[in-house]
Amino acid sequence: MAWYNATGKENDKSLYETPVIDRCIFCGNHEKIKCEMTIVFSEFETNTGPMCTRCYHANSRKALLK
Ligand SMILES: [Zn+2]
Repeated sequence: MAWYNATGKENDKSLYETPVIDRCIFCGNHEKIKCEMTIVFSEFETNTGPMCTRCYHANSRKALLK
């Protein structure tokens, strides 16, 4: 379901990695989604959803510093 207009500018990249814009479960913004992640609040509370590229990089950087 393509609701957007393809400009042709970024179609080369899109062939390999389709950009998905969705609501990030971390920051709540509509961003380009990097992957799906699960947040574990407790043993019985988890939240699985899309994670944007910005939060992905922020969290991976934090993980590297530790
Ligand atoms: Zn985010």
